[in-house]
Amino acid sequence: MGSPKHQEVPQAACGHTDAVHHPPDREEIQRRKLRVKETLRCPHCNEKLSKWLVPDTPFIEWSSEFQYICFNDACAYFADGWATLASQGSPCSYRFMFDPPTGGCYSIPVPSAEALRDGIVESE
Ligand SMILES: [Zn+2]
Repeated sequence: MGSPKHQEVPQAACGHTDAVHHPPDREEIQRRKLRVKETLRCPHCNEKLSKWLVPDTPFIEWSSEFQYICFNDACAYFADGWATLASQGSPCSYRFMFDPPTGGCYSIPVPSAEALRDGIVESE
């Protein structure tokens, strides 16, 4: 008795099932960040990034018409962001964002899980 049930691992189409239950360590995240350009996957949760149309705003100058953002609500980066920002007095979190022209990895602040979803471009 007391033997743990078999952990159910979702079967991804590509066969990569790592990091679904266990967040990767910092080194692994750094390695993945270097490869986001090719994988277009979030270094934190390994989910596919969503192509995202930047908003038309005079306040921010975007380097590209599109960015790639992780919209996985279970993403550790996003999930942990609430507590991190709450401790700074801000009721927000942030999502992982990849900037294609520079290859840079950024965080974009979001006030809710629904925020920014309007800009998601359906991948064909
Ligand atoms: Zn993610």
